[in-house]
Amino acid sequence: MNYCRDLKKIVKGKVAFNEPLSRHTTFRIGGPAKAWVEPADVEDLKNILKLISKNKIPFFVIGEGSNLLVRDKGFNGIALKLNSSFFNDVKINKGYILAGSGVKIAKLIDFARKKSLSGCEFLSGIPGSVGGALVMNAGARPNSIFNNDYKSIGELVKEARVMDAGGRIKILKRSQLKFGYRSSNLSKYIVLDAKLKLKPGKRVEIERNVSDFLRYKKDTQDSNWRNAGCVFKNPSIATQDNFSARSISAGYLIDSSGLKRYRVGGAVISGKHANFILNEKNAKAKDVINLIRFVQKKIKDKFNINLELELKIV
Ligand SMILES: Cc1cc2nc3c(=O)[nH]c(=O)nc-3n(C[C@H](O)[C@H](O)[C@H](O)COP(=O)(O)OP(=O)(O)OC[C@H]3O[C@@H](n4cnc5c(N)ncnc54)[C@H](O)[C@@H]3O)c2cc1C
Repeated sequence: MNYCRDLKKIVKGKVAFNEPLSRHTTFRIGGPAKAWVEPADVEDLKNILKLISKNKIPFFVIGEGSNLLVRDKGFNGIALKLNSSFFNDVKINKGYILAGSGVKIAKLIDFARKKSLSGCEFLSGIPGSVGGALVMNAGARPNSIFNNDYKSIGELVKEARVMDAGGRIKILKRSQLKFGYRSSNLSKYIVLDAKLKLKPGKRVEIERNVSDFLRYKKDTQDSNWRNAGCVFKNPSIATQDNFSARSISAGYLIDSSGLKRYRVGGAVISGKHANFILNEKNAKAKDVINLIRFVQKKIKDKFNINLELELKIV
């Protein structure tokens, strides 16, 4: 199926072929996408989706690639990146922050800080985009083995503008949005932008919050190795009374199984944060996947707990 010539003809934004996806993921792992497309604006995106639908081309949206493992064989379809200036705008709109899906989380936090708006500091140090953070319902939790007190970006969303696979734009109001633990119903769509509700705050306090979160990340996570953040979701386990469930840290389970620094090829479990896998020595996706399977088996055997992936594999 040769849709590449048509793509070149119709797309106003950037198009590349055989683009190594290792360049676009924080893991720095992954084979090429047959086509890499950066739509110039919403109209462009709509036309691309028409071509995708007409030719039944596989596609996926990539944000900052900070929660993604791309397989070594790459992706035989189109990787869509909402990276043009159109999708990278952040501004105040009727008392809300309106952020394009391509806006980096760091830029969003800095914008809020400059406007003395508080409430998104907990996202500090998350190397994603607004679109990726919304789909994943990115968040942070205080350092503790048992803790359900998550703060997630979903709590801030007033509405999100999305496009469906047919190119139709919809505005999803708060009541239509469903955010779960590292999941949301936005994953069915392409997120275009979102309105976020923050509250007025003191700039000096906002800055202190940001540096506290960044220091916590620096103390607990490897910053100098290629990784994709937490690999597994924290599982829910039944409490002794069996009436409720609470979440236990996947990192704690992996650490207490003695798996810190366990290695498969170039992929190794972090010695600092056992829920991180590091690409230390030019790891292949295959190494990471084999390490994931090994950890899942160990945790199942030792604790009878199934570790679910937080990481997305393409
Ligand atoms: C060092 C490090 C620390 C991290 N710390 C945290 C943390 O504290 N908390 C946390 O929650 N996560 C954390 N992460 C994981 C990751 O940064 C978040 O999940 C982030 O929100 C992913 O955003 P992204 O733009 O990189 O998305 P990607 O990884 O590119 O994509 C993630 C998913 O979102 C989809 N997607 C992306 N953009 C769109 C869009 N516009 N429309 C539709 N679908 C889209 C993709 O198809 C994919 O399924 C960390 C990662 C790293 C590397």
